Amino acid sequence: MIPFISQLPEDEQFIWIAALNRVLENEKIVHISDVTPAEKKHCTLAIVANPNTALLAEFKNLTWLHSIWAGVENLMLSLADSPIEVVRLIDPTLSKTMAEAVLAWSLYIHRDMPLYAKQQKNKQWQQHRHVPASERRIGILGLGTLGQASAKQLQQNGFKVMGWSRTAKIVANIKTYSSDSGLAEMLVQSDVLVCLLPLTSATRGMVNKELLAQLPQGSAIINFARGGLINTDELLTALNAHHISHAVLDVFEHEPLTADSKLWQHPDVTILPHISAPTNLDSACEIVANNIMAFRATGRIPKAVDKVNGY
Ligand code: NAP
Repeated sequence: MIPFISQLPEDEQFIWIAALNRVLENEKIVHISDVTPAEKKHCTLAIVANPNTALLAEFKNLTWLHSIWAGVENLMLSLADSPIEVVRLIDPTLSKTMAEAVLAWSLYIHRDMPLYAKQQKNKQWQQHRHVPASERRIGILGLGTLGQASAKQLQQNGFKVMGWSRTAKIVANIKTYSSDSGLAEMLVQSDVLVCLLPLTSATRGMVNKELLAQLPQGSAIINFARGGLINTDELLTALNAHHISHAVLDVFEHEPLTADSKLWQHPDVTILPHISAPTNLDSACEIVANNIMAFRATGRIPKAVDKVNGY
């Protein structure tokens, strides 16, 4: 028996449970309410989506969790001192979806859509110089699964792409950077900065006034990773000073974004309701199933999130 533990709406939980049972014929995936206290003691593995930690704690013998989400920041915080391993979803379908979103919103900025939308409101007919994609420099913070897929997509669309990661990387046709000095070198050249870093103790709040000041005048920012990466007040200051021309934000410290947030009404901010790369039910179920079947066959837990680095 494998419990499905999640804070998703009940109807969505049952859709996931049914889909997982279809692909895992030799397992029994069950809603948490269908597990008796005696059965809870025998569960060593759970499938989760941002689970409530109090519910998780009712299962005393868990050794690992398979998340159906790619981002597991909350889970890593709550399990920092626990021996339970966390396997996150790594899904090429999701990477493709994220790369598509990064391309879409990079094009939105690249082709001056925020500016032309403002002009339309004022019935203003004014053409601006077209900048070829080959002259538009896009820097990506984070060159992991999603950062690399996005970098490749942008590069294929003709942009000049750079990426920064904790460890040095070689990625075809992408200029890569690591370390603090590498970050500074990339920032001064980034007309668009795309955030695809995990939220960890090292990255929390790193997009602050000092970082924003290093970007070229009039640059734009896209955050598709986690809200906590950005110091919102300092971003607003940079937007109000027109140092940053536009911000596309899909993720926020508190979601849903509260009605009193200054971000909603800001003329240079695009708000998205955390939609850049939703998990695809079919591909995710297949990946989770393959990982669980491999575990049953070998006894080896699939590659888990590194608790020291937090991602
Ligand atoms: P990943 O494969 O773990 O990649 C993380 C990247 O960030 C790696 O390149 C890593 O460097 C780099 N990094 C981590 N800490 C760093 C630091 N302190 N300094 C410099 N670089 C650092 O993660 P992913 O799958 O690409 O996902 C990234 C994030 O996207 C997730 O954590 C999640 O928050 C977010 N996400 C958002 C959505 C959405 O719909 N908005 C959907 C899915 C995921 P190394 O390569 O050197 O390790």
